[in-house]
Amino acid sequence: MNIKSREELSKKINIEIKAITGRIKLLKETSKPVKPDNAIGRLTRMEAIGSKAISDANLSSARVRLVNLERALRRVKEDSDFGLCVECGEDIVEARLMLLPESERCVGCAGR
Ligand SMILES: [Zn+2]
Repeated sequence: MNIKSREELSKKINIEIKAITGRIKLLKETSKPVKPDNAIGRLTRMEAIGSKAISDANLSSARVRLVNLERALRRVKEDSDFGLCVECGEDIVEARLMLLPESERCVGCAGR
């Protein structure tokens, strides 16, 4: 991957990191424990617990994504092998990296 693409990608990763950090903050708010006496408008307590479970799941996947993005950001800056598939060593197509910067496998290997 050339330097220009790397710069572009690291900018993109930074934007995504910022977005996901904001999302985590928001999800933390919605995944607070549901109090027994919570008056939540039309929502019943069961519904509140259900939506908390969804928030928890979203929160943990957002955290995983954040860790992966931070790793990708380090790699795009420091690792000369960035953009090469860890399985076959071929270039990962740039469109894939732009979409999913944390990709470590090419489409062929990831699909296996
Ligand atoms: Zn591959």
